[in-house]
Amino acid sequence: ADILIAGSFSQSAEEMFSKSFVCHRLLQDADIQSLPVGVAEKIRAIAAAPNASVHSNLIKKLPGLEIIANFGVGYDNIDVSYAARHKIIVTNTPDVLTEEVADVAIGLMIMTARELSAAERWLRDGNWNGSYPLTRGTLRSKRLGIFGLGRIGLAIAKRAEAMNMEICYHNRNRVRDVRYPYCASLRELASHCDILLCAAPGGDATRRAIGSEIFEALGPDGILINIGRGSTVDETALIKALKDGTIMSAGLDVFHDEPHVPEDLLTMDNVVLLPHVASASQFTRNAMGKLQVDNLVSWFRDGLPLTPVPETPWPRP
Ligand code: NDP
Repeated sequence: ADILIAGSFSQSAEEMFSKSFVCHRLLQDADIQSLPVGVAEKIRAIAAAPNASVHSNLIKKLPGLEIIANFGVGYDNIDVSYAARHKIIVTNTPDVLTEEVADVAIGLMIMTARELSAAERWLRDGNWNGSYPLTRGTLRSKRLGIFGLGRIGLAIAKRAEAMNMEICYHNRNRVRDVRYPYCASLRELASHCDILLCAAPGGDATRRAIGSEIFEALGPDGILINIGRGSTVDETALIKALKDGTIMSAGLDVFHDEPHVPEDLLTMDNVVLLPHVASASQFTRNAMGKLQVDNLVSWFRDGLPLTPVPETPWPRP
């Protein structure tokens, strides 16, 4: 089958695609018109990288499109409702990255609470003749509030439980079979916890959900950790809250306009900033790439997507 590669992939991923498919490349923001004449009509699948925006205008121009396979569990880069209305399958790469992302969430939480990157900068800058100041932040006797207790949120909760932290959460729906207290709103969650950790998806439903009201509820000793999507946090409100002490600190793996990180954040010492690396080990990225390709192979061989997203028209009515 002819497939369209949208966005940038590693060389090993490109090789995996080439083994099974006839590949055509669409670079980020490149116009579909730039494909050679007759190619758009032949495309039956899109392999999308996280930096590729698969919007309705692109989908419209591919009349033979059957499936969009996304690299990553979050798929806010794809117009999934448009695809669903046109019976186009969308798949993502759940589970294979869960533990890796949960590890980084916990790492980022410890780094932020205990100022580990600031302490390392202090050492490298040759300041170790006295002692690094005692940190105001700690995880001892603190409650972790998880916004988005799904696959990743639960893996984080399991780790935090082993670290003797109390846990509470907010989702739209209560999770069955968990003992953690449920908060009916994000505001309630923020006022009940010391560390607010976002592992919720991006997209319209969560856009700028974490804003000034939430920071006020979190309070002056509060910490925000975001490993979900940058769009979920009102970055301007966050910068203000960090500057005026409405909250204490923040650890961020994701940003509103990646790879752009606001200058204000870059110059603050009470933030830990990571370049969207939560799943970025060779081991896990390979597993994600394999699942993306396996979805396409299974679709074209057996007519079965392996990991369709909930919004996708599968099983076929
Ligand atoms: P899941 O779908 O398993 O979990 C998402 C959770 O968020 C669910 O419990 C869901 O519960 C809750 N949720 C969704 N929408 C809302 C809402 N509007 N309000 C409140 N809660 C909501 O996904 P995963 O755990 O596998 O992944 C979560 C997200 O993590 C991904 O979508 C992605 O954006 C991000 N991610 C980031 C990575 C990184 O590199 N930083 C790597 C991998 C993932 P309910 O439906 O009941 O509301």
